[in-house]
Amino acid sequence: MGDLIAERLNQIMERITAKARSCGRDPAEIRLVAVSKTKPAEDIRQAASAGAQIFGENYIQEARRKIEALYDLDVKWHFIGHLQTNKAKFAVRLFDLIHSVDSLKLAKALDREASKIGKCQDVLVQVNISGEKTKSGVTPAETMDLLRRMASLENISVKGLMTMPPFFDDPVKAQPFFRKLRRLAVQAAEAGIANIAMQELSMGMTGDFEVAIEEGATLVRIGTAIFGSRNRA
Ligand SMILES: *Cc1c(COP(=O)(O)O)cnc(C)c1O
Repeated sequence: MGDLIAERLNQIMERITAKARSCGRDPAEIRLVAVSKTKPAEDIRQAASAGAQIFGENYIQEARRKIEALYDLDVKWHFIGHLQTNKAKFAVRLFDLIHSVDSLKLAKALDREASKIGKCQDVLVQVNISGEKTKSGVTPAETMDLLRRMASLENISVKGLMTMPPFFDDPVKAQPFFRKLRRLAVQAAEAGIANIAMQELSMGMTGDFEVAIEEGATLVRIGTAIFGSRNRA
């Protein structure tokens, strides 16, 4: 099993590098978030020893258990799932980057909890580009307003945007959604809001990460292609 994870991880890292080069980007600009939700700590250990440096988790309780069990690993943890305000306290203690801030209420809760532990929490704002009701995230129209309001939160540092397009069998169909996120980030950067950086674009998963790299992704979130299909949560 360990060999299989290492092999898949290496294949993904090679594909990221190849894709970056083919569109004239520096492969070092693109970081892989190995999405380990539902997978046991042992699988994460295997991936880490094969070179994975960032792990993405979706559920606070599950992540807490695994992060404690893997305290000896020198890796970063990113939260990529929907975050409830009442879990903000745990999120700031556990994660280096939270990809899924989708309301001012959540941003304020994270700010408050981060200040209690003397941390400045790095976050991304999740944008629901497609407008699908099942997806979290602010609408593109709401994004600038949320960023402006977040600018005054001293214990939060916005690093960029994240999105999840609809699922398509043909990844090329996801391309317009990635492009829209990039344009929104450019627009936000040009607005020059204090304390708001737009250096990260978290987009692209197993089925569409290569298209996302073409559109400027700096963080690709890949689970299935590394760990196999998901266990039951
Ligand atoms: C599960 C998940 C992923 C990984 O999806 P795969 O298709 O398994 O690569 C990426 N991003 C988010 C937000 C997820 O919940």
